[in-house]
Amino acid sequence: MKRTMRERLAVGRLGSCATLLALVAACVPAQAPERRALVIGLDGATLAVTRPLIAAGRLPHLARLAEAGVHGPLVSSLPIQSPRIWNTIATGKTPRRHGILSFTFDAANGERRLYLSRHRKVPAVWNILSQHGVKVSAVNWWNTWPPERINGVMVSDHFFPGQLSGREDLFKAGGGEGGPSVSPIDWEARATQVAERDTNPTAFENPFLERGNLPRWTHLGSLADVFDTDRRVAQVALEIAEAESPQVLMVYFPGIDRVSHSLWIGVDATHNFPPEFRLTDAERTAARNALENYYAYTDALVGHLLAGYQTDDLVIVLSDHGFEAHPFGDPVDGQLVLTGGHESPAARDGLLIARGRGIPPGGGLEGMSIRDVTPTLLAWLGLPIGADMDGSPAHFVGTAPFAEVASYDDLAIERESAEASAVEGEIVEQLRGLGYLE
Ligand SMILES: [Zn+2]
Repeated sequence: MKRTMRERLAVGRLGSCATLLALVAACVPAQAPERRALVIGLDGATLAVTRPLIAAGRLPHLARLAEAGVHGPLVSSLPIQSPRIWNTIATGKTPRRHGILSFTFDAANGERRLYLSRHRKVPAVWNILSQHGVKVSAVNWWNTWPPERINGVMVSDHFFPGQLSGREDLFKAGGGEGGPSVSPIDWEARATQVAERDTNPTAFENPFLERGNLPRWTHLGSLADVFDTDRRVAQVALEIAEAESPQVLMVYFPGIDRVSHSLWIGVDATHNFPPEFRLTDAERTAARNALENYYAYTDALVGHLLAGYQTDDLVIVLSDHGFEAHPFGDPVDGQLVLTGGHESPAARDGLLIARGRGIPPGGGLEGMSIRDVTPTLLAWLGLPIGADMDGSPAHFVGTAPFAEVASYDDLAIERESAEASAVEGEIVEQLRGLGYLE
């Protein structure tokens, strides 16, 4: 196993550790520069949109990453549900093994409950990295509430519930105090202050403040909130990056998925939609522009996060699935009209772009899967992968054998204690609003 790994350890950041056992225990980093990694999740981002926009020069930051490294489809899994997939990405294990099987489950008393962090049955990569003494922070990853105590800051996904309405409204709707949504808890006030800062770090105006020629059924309020949520995610992540200098930072942006559910009709063939979904040319153009501009806006947010990283650092941008035409609702007088979805195998695969030390430029991905992301990140950092993980390191970080431990599953996970989330009910309503729940 382990010759390659020991060599790597000997010259790497953990040079003072003689054995892998010692490595798992506390371990002082050597003088060599830290291997830093940034992982950015863009829900629903698809090559079908990014490739033409990159070619047209509209996504300069993603284009530079792709040019400097590898990019291609990231093989996902069915059924295409974000929580299943993002937890596989964060654990290297299939949903059956990580335990997050959908958005919600029916509790014994018949109540519909959200899957929470405590329902994840195995450690996530942030737990594994913390165990290794790596400074790691995570922002807005799926099913991270109650937030876990890690070797850094965890801003849980219940910190950013304002995708459809303001956070204050949500707390009223929730009718309770709820527990902390950030760990350590003294970061909660700071994150809140930063998230509420009303400065847009990009040159993009919120395109959903006025209807313009957008289709009459476009739900402007929720899309305007999505635009603000992604901005807040970036602001909080930047604050953590500056204050904490985490060696590994993981950030999840929901916006592209939400906008694509609404406005996919702008970029897909007209014949994929029934007659009542037909748009005027002006509406179609407006829908297309809004969706493409949203990708460009996201690229600008990614650019801000990238500013603190060197070309040697690992940067992974990835998504959980693609999109397809999926007309939903009644465009004449329906409350909820959606035009894009991810139901069939045609929409299964997401994308992945990776650049960093040792990654050959200009390459593609050979069947890399969502299960491979955590092993890839560990291997690139020179840390052992779990032999019981369902994925393996991507070809671009080198070739086997990789250092292994039998399993990380007995790792203890501590959470900020909380009985009930103040925003759970509202999040269930949001999922209904996206057509995910009947
Ligand atoms: Zn979606």
